[in-house]
Amino acid sequence: MNLSDLSGQVQKFLKPMGITMSDMPIEEFRKNGHQLIDWIADYIDNIEKYSPLSQVNPGDVLKRIPESPPRKGEEIENVLRDVDKILMEGITHWNHPGFMAYFNSTSSSPGILAELLTAGLGINGMLWKTSPAFTELEKAMMNWFRQMVGLPDDYWGIIYDTASTSSMHAIASAREQLNLGFREKGMAGRSDIPRLRMYCSEHAHSSIDKGALTLGIGLEGIKKIPVNDKYEMIPEKLEEAIEEDLKNEWKPFCVVATVGTTSTTSVDPVELISEICEKHNLWLHIDAAYAGVAALLPEMKWITEGWNKVDSIVINPHKWMFTPMDLSIYYTRKPKILKQAFSLVPEYLKTKQDDEVENLMDYGIQLGRRFRSLKLWYVIRYFGVEGLSKIIRTHIELAKEFSEWIDNEKDFERMTPVPLSTVCFRYHPENKSKEEMNILNEKLLELINSSGRLFLSHTKLNGKFVIRLTIGSIRHERQHVVDAWELIKASTKNLQ
Ligand code: PLP
Repeated sequence: MNLSDLSGQVQKFLKPMGITMSDMPIEEFRKNGHQLIDWIADYIDNIEKYSPLSQVNPGDVLKRIPESPPRKGEEIENVLRDVDKILMEGITHWNHPGFMAYFNSTSSSPGILAELLTAGLGINGMLWKTSPAFTELEKAMMNWFRQMVGLPDDYWGIIYDTASTSSMHAIASAREQLNLGFREKGMAGRSDIPRLRMYCSEHAHSSIDKGALTLGIGLEGIKKIPVNDKYEMIPEKLEEAIEEDLKNEWKPFCVVATVGTTSTTSVDPVELISEICEKHNLWLHIDAAYAGVAALLPEMKWITEGWNKVDSIVINPHKWMFTPMDLSIYYTRKPKILKQAFSLVPEYLKTKQDDEVENLMDYGIQLGRRFRSLKLWYVIRYFGVEGLSKIIRTHIELAKEFSEWIDNEKDFERMTPVPLSTVCFRYHPENKSKEEMNILNEKLLELINSSGRLFLSHTKLNGKFVIRLTIGSIRHERQHVVDAWELIKASTKNLQ
């Protein structure tokens, strides 16, 4: 009998008494592992039996969970049983094909398997030494993905958790590039530095504002540039804003352009914006968190126009590339500046290989790192670039088809162009004021979302309440879009 068998036997004996002094015996782990995979397989297979949007009220789940932790350990089967009993009703099913809200984030099966493996390996990739394969697979995946979206090879990539984190690192790099001694002296209480200003469109994601908040730039340090009637940043207005700031002793340092804005998926004119940034020596960051993966398609390459002249780019495979939460890719042509901003190596983290390897902890705020590249490896290898492209192409085609249905229905109005896979629309019966129309569409959205079959989200454009439908799930097929359209039309009949 080996050591693990022996501790398994001891554990088996103690467990009925609620005593747990070592890890789960390996046979029990194996049995429960199989059970869990069966549970997940059944869940995915039966996903359409659930309501995409959870219908519970605030506090409903919390009150089902004991207030204090158990004193004694219990069988792990009990926990899985309680996932069904306590949690499932409070789960909003992002994997449900009726989930067409926000931007989808779906877990493909290869991605789920990789997540399990990540937990099994239990690696922390803070240093090359703490798992050489971690650092080197991440490097390889950054090279693969860079080729997939057609970026030049002087872009260096790293994986963070979310686009919010990626963009925060971009803004931090832009600030560091100014060489104003922020690393040593910070920003607070200094009379020797100008106030910093960054720029993005009115439609940039709130994560950009949060990045600025985190870094002490402050909300006044962000100027929102107006957009045209297609919700794209107006470069002339950007230029004007910079000129005005320069006259008023602000220090412009960074511009964020969005490729695929959250509300409407509009695409800022990166090429023109990059010329302005070049002229004023400003860091240009591209937020392509959702839309970036569309660059896999030759016919969508136009979204990458001007990308070879920018300083950094974020793209989230966890949004539209069927990779489970969370995985955000950050590319920069200036990794040295990122390292200059964040590297700090205490004695206990020094290694013999420091001069010949990249220690990923040097390139961001976090020390510990999850093995996220593993799920990218699984997803890319399972589907192949062609497979992924085909699915994304189908989503774009379905969105076009859905927008034609909207265009052809007298009582509906499409509110924006549809360059990608999100359609913004509203119900628009005759003789209603703007306010009445807003109330009506808000009610319509509530009816749709309480149907238990479809989950859509909304935005406001020029004061108008607009419903958004996004097609981007690994499980989206044409029939789901047909069903969604039927449900939307039928729901208007129930409006008062
Ligand atoms: N940027 C854009 C354009 C987004 O649409 C979103 C989220 O939807 C984000 C950034 C933030 O993404 P994350 O949740 O990965 O921080």
